[in-house]
Amino acid sequence: MPWGLLYEAVARIALDIDSTLHHYWDLLQRVVRERYGLDLPYEEQRDWGITAIERDALIHCVEETHSDDNIAAGVPYPGAVEAVRAWHRNGHWIHVTSHRRRSTAAATVAWLESIGMPFDDLYCSFDKVSRCVELGIHVLVDDSPVNILRARDAGIVAATIVHPWNEELVERDGVIGARDWDGLRERLDPLLERIGLDD
Ligand SMILES: [Mg+2]
Repeated sequence: MPWGLLYEAVARIALDIDSTLHHYWDLLQRVVRERYGLDLPYEEQRDWGITAIERDALIHCVEETHSDDNIAAGVPYPGAVEAVRAWHRNGHWIHVTSHRRRSTAAATVAWLESIGMPFDDLYCSFDKVSRCVELGIHVLVDDSPVNILRARDAGIVAATIVHPWNEELVERDGVIGARDWDGLRERLDPLLERIGLDD
């Protein structure tokens, strides 16, 4: 970590996008239904393995959810932009990180700007947690059970909006969860201030 960062009284926060900053499932469900006529009910996604559809087919569908138009149409969860704005105003460093191709970065930046989400850094790639480690991230907000567990193992505080696929992990081993962004903000605010002081 560069020297200067050690003396900044700020927390370094990483934010996932899909199912964290906006409700992504409806979009994926619609694409899968249109392409394959299959239904993926939100409530039934109890684990991270989506088995109703073949892996390659699913990858195609996920890629379609990251078309320029689909990215631009994302509606942030209530309170998400406000929470991140407040954190950014308080000096915390915001790294937005999404499991999507690098080529989607321009559309992703345009979307973040259009919703008024402040951020210091954007990373569109497939090695999220190792990048978080390199950046000295303190808190990762991400719904993926895989990322939650990896972050926790790397000593990063994991927090998430609660979804059917991660609710079993929440409140175990320090994993923070809330039903909405107001709840997440309430839980994370005191922690972020402490991180700032501890550094
Ligand atoms: Mg996600």
